[in-house]
Amino acid sequence: MSDTQQIIDDSFARLIKTYAPQPVVLDHGKGCYAYDTDGKKYLDFAAGIAVASLGHAHPAMLEAMQKQAARLMACQASYSTREKLECAKLMTDTSCFDLVYFSNSGTESVEAAFKLARKWAYDEKGEHCNEVIAMRQSFHGRTMGAASITEKRHTQHFYAPYIEGIHFAEFNNLDSVKELVSEKTAAIIIEPVQGEGGLTPAEPAFLMGLRQICDEHNIALIFDEVQTGFGRLGKLYAYEAFECCPDCVKGGDVNEANLQVIEPDIVAWAKGMGGGFPVGAMAAKTKFGVAMQPGTHGTTYGGNPLACAVASAVMKEIMQPAFIDNVNKMGARLVSGLEKIQRESNKITDIRGKGLMIGVDTIYDVGKFLSALQKNGMMATQAGKSTLRLVPPLIVGEQEIDEALEIIGKTLQEGAE
Ligand code: PLP
Repeated sequence: MSDTQQIIDDSFARLIKTYAPQPVVLDHGKGCYAYDTDGKKYLDFAAGIAVASLGHAHPAMLEAMQKQAARLMACQASYSTREKLECAKLMTDTSCFDLVYFSNSGTESVEAAFKLARKWAYDEKGEHCNEVIAMRQSFHGRTMGAASITEKRHTQHFYAPYIEGIHFAEFNNLDSVKELVSEKTAAIIIEPVQGEGGLTPAEPAFLMGLRQICDEHNIALIFDEVQTGFGRLGKLYAYEAFECCPDCVKGGDVNEANLQVIEPDIVAWAKGMGGGFPVGAMAAKTKFGVAMQPGTHGTTYGGNPLACAVASAVMKEIMQPAFIDNVNKMGARLVSGLEKIQRESNKITDIRGKGLMIGVDTIYDVGKFLSALQKNGMMATQAGKSTLRLVPPLIVGEQEIDEALEIIGKTLQEGAE
């Protein structure tokens, strides 16, 4: 038996089986490429599922990590550090949010957002106001709060009972949201682009409609930007990528002179924010953020100086204008290359997405197509039941986009039956 197979089999024997193992053992990475233990090179368009925003082994991240690890890695969450302040400042100075809470993962950021919304509604409107409206096909994470607002709960009855007071509306259908709103509604939560749900972008008019409903009924609007934040959609924050004019909600024409950014009240971040380092954050406008007081919520590791130093280093890279420019240019290049393949091969049935978060439906089973891509030296991932999800590092260049297109074209030609 090969070393590789031995590692896979031994790992499977010793790990709780939450994932089906891939037939590859990864060893190291550099830039947009990852290498397995047999020395095979893969163009990494999965990036740890939209995590390695700066690619693998980025010098700015390594420098921040090494320097900070040698200085201070751990401290009680109640202590201030320069690193925590710098990171919070970078976020509040560049976004519509005023207050930040650091976590260690996406699900924790969502959990914190959920708790903050309930605490705010309890203080503001009373005990009865504790319901949350989530979307069908949503994915928000796997802790009980996040799982309770995630579509998959409908097929995972073995974890019941889920948290009470959750209702599911149709994504991109404002009437279905309106039907669920009552005096008990504390919050509405949405992913600006549904990831796990099949890579579906929200329509700007739908998001603007949610904003109007929340303003009218004093409800907290939460955006889960765990996968879409930090440059992924071609803006620093996902909420900035959905400008809309208020009249469009009622079906009016787009008025370019009155385009407005749709600001949520609370946001959940993680993934690309740490570039691969496990860190997340929940941020809020003052009105909502002040609902949390000492003793209401917390975390041992959240906001530790190492995580904050790395997240700041990642942010400083992403915040350079040329960086976001690159995301938009490379996203456009990827989509136009995919459209060309679609015209020539007739094997692509849909292409959708924003920035460098692109979904592709093909005539092949997505699992089989991913395996075929892997054999041809490219890693990608799945979104929903049938969509190929392309979420490369945001530093990706023209050469790597063209290489990805070549591998996708070749794999489609070979077939993935
Ligand atoms: N929210 C969204 C939109 C996600 O895509 C994910 C992870 O894929 C999560 C939450 C959960 O994040 P984590 O896996 O870091 O807990």
